Amino acid sequence: MITLKSPSEIQKLQESADLVSEVHNRLQEIIEPGLPTIELDQLAEKLIRSYGAKPAFKGYRGFPYSVCVSINEQVVHGFPSDRKLRDGDVLSLDIGVHYQGYVGDVARTVGVGAISPEADLLIRRSYQALREAGEQARHGNRIGDVSHAVETLGRQWGYGVVRDFVGHAVGCSMHEDPQVPNYGKPNAGPRIKAGMVLCIEPMFNLGTWEVQVLSDRWTVVTKDRTLSVHVEDMIAVLPDGPKVLSSANGRIYPEEPEPEAAPAVTPAREATN
Ligand code: MG
Repeated sequence: MITLKSPSEIQKLQESADLVSEVHNRLQEIIEPGLPTIELDQLAEKLIRSYGAKPAFKGYRGFPYSVCVSINEQVVHGFPSDRKLRDGDVLSLDIGVHYQGYVGDVARTVGVGAISPEADLLIRRSYQALREAGEQARHGNRIGDVSHAVETLGRQWGYGVVRDFVGHAVGCSMHEDPQVPNYGKPNAGPRIKAGMVLCIEPMFNLGTWEVQVLSDRWTVVTKDRTLSVHVEDMIAVLPDGPKVLSSANGRIYPEEPEPEAAPAVTPAREATN
């Protein structure tokens, strides 16, 4: 069932998004080679509870942690652990909260130390796809317009576009209808209406689009173990256009234009070697 949010509900979702953005900001400050990723989880949970909120992921369908920590070939839903961050890692953090009855759900990917040009470009382009897809979240458009924007850019760049996990609407619950896939046809799917709040979450792989779930039953990795990036914003559909609720962080969100001399991207079909 699709529910439309009133302006006061959108304000609550803005506050939840602000809270998650702030947690992301604080985690960025401690990210460095040598840091065990469990410390990111511990700090996030401490901060979330200090604001009077609750971690939304902890216990969700049995997920044991407050933050999904997905490194390199891990796509989503990775476990924080004693594993130490290394120079060159690509680190995705997905954080959710319940605050004043409303959910905040935001994912950011950053490089640890010095990362490869290929990884840097994958991250920048993932944010670019997120921004451009968000522009399609307009009253009167359809969900397929958002999905198509993500898929078209990902394919144009030669990336594998993950199909097994999708974005979603958000409100009092974390996963509300409609789903927002990263693939689709323009002018197809549910009509977008003012009052919707959508989590748009591109997932791009350097190689194949195919993924696998590890034996811990949560961690999703690329089938060919190539790098993957996941980013997610909360976007409110207002009568006069989309409003990104979660872009509070200029330090994480790369704003520079794409470099002119872009390194070649390995085509997906050759990346299984
Ligand atoms: Mg989400």
